[in-house]
Amino acid sequence: MTHLLNADLHCHSVVSDGTLTPEALAERAKANGVQLWALTDHDEIGGQARALAAAQALGMRYLTGVEISVTFIGQTVHIVGLGFDASNAALLQGLRDTRGGRKQRAMEMSEGLAKVGIAAAFEGALPYVGNPELISRTHFARFLVDSGVCKDTNEVFRKYLTEGKPGYVPHRWATLKDAVTWITEAGGVAVVAHPARYKFTPNEEFALFTEFKGHGGQGVEVVTGSHSAAEYVTYAQTAKEFGLAASRGSDFHSPAESHTELGTLPLLSSTLTPVWELLSDRIQ
Ligand code: AMP
Ligand code: MN
Ligand code: MN
Ligand code: MN
Repeated sequence: MTHLLNADLHCHSVVSDGTLTPEALAERAKANGVQLWALTDHDEIGGQARALAAAQALGMRYLTGVEISVTFIGQTVHIVGLGFDASNAALLQGLRDTRGGRKQRAMEMSEGLAKVGIAAAFEGALPYVGNPELISRTHFARFLVDSGVCKDTNEVFRKYLTEGKPGYVPHRWATLKDAVTWITEAGGVAVVAHPARYKFTPNEEFALFTEFKGHGGQGVEVVTGSHSAAEYVTYAQTAKEFGLAASRGSDFHSPAESHTELGTLPLLSSTLTPVWELLSDRIQ
């Protein structure tokens, strides 16, 4: 009956583009009834020790977590890693390399925004950045909302930060193979994050899951804050077709911005294999 577990295996802290500390997230998860939690900052595991300590102090079970940015046939795909050894040298180096170039990209984003009359966006975004190695589009979005350019972060992404828009700078992230290999060789399970968010054709999506499995990937997010109820059904089917375990996570970033609260999504269907069943010996 482990599909009944209130697991939330996807969220972000100030170590990447969330607004809460790992400790505040742990408290929020616990208050919402989360029984198994993972902090999954973008391209960074610097918050893992704090998250684990906070979870243990609250009597909440914990899996190590990360969300790695990958470029796959020209699009950005996110791969969540769960239950890995956070001291694994190849994983740490791979994540360091993946973070590299974010500052340069941010300065180019700022130049693009300057051309449409938004001056000094790089300097404006900096006070929102909790980790100097992890400047993200989200930090620009918060600056543009607080400075009155847009009414919310969704509007910022739509008008300024997505492909073809003035503040968008194409970026090459890790390869799918590298991300999956770093996670699995560190003893973890790799999971395709929020698959419905990508703009792949059916053939491209098939290629994503086929190659992901070929590299050793074992899971897919089925119940996530990025999916509609219909998409839970679609990706439950995908999990079965590809023989993947299913994950569940809110992708919570901030009380002010996130429409999905930690630990409040529907539970996984009993017809799926929960990803935590593959990780029982990695739960802390
Ligand atoms: P980056 O890694 O710098 O490209 O930033 C990606 C992050 O931007 C994602 O993890 C989300 O937190 C955020 N994001 C992407 N698209 C949107 C959107 N349409 N609205 C709000 N936030 C978004
Ligand atoms: Mn994010
Ligand atoms: Mn993501
Ligand atoms: Mn995320």
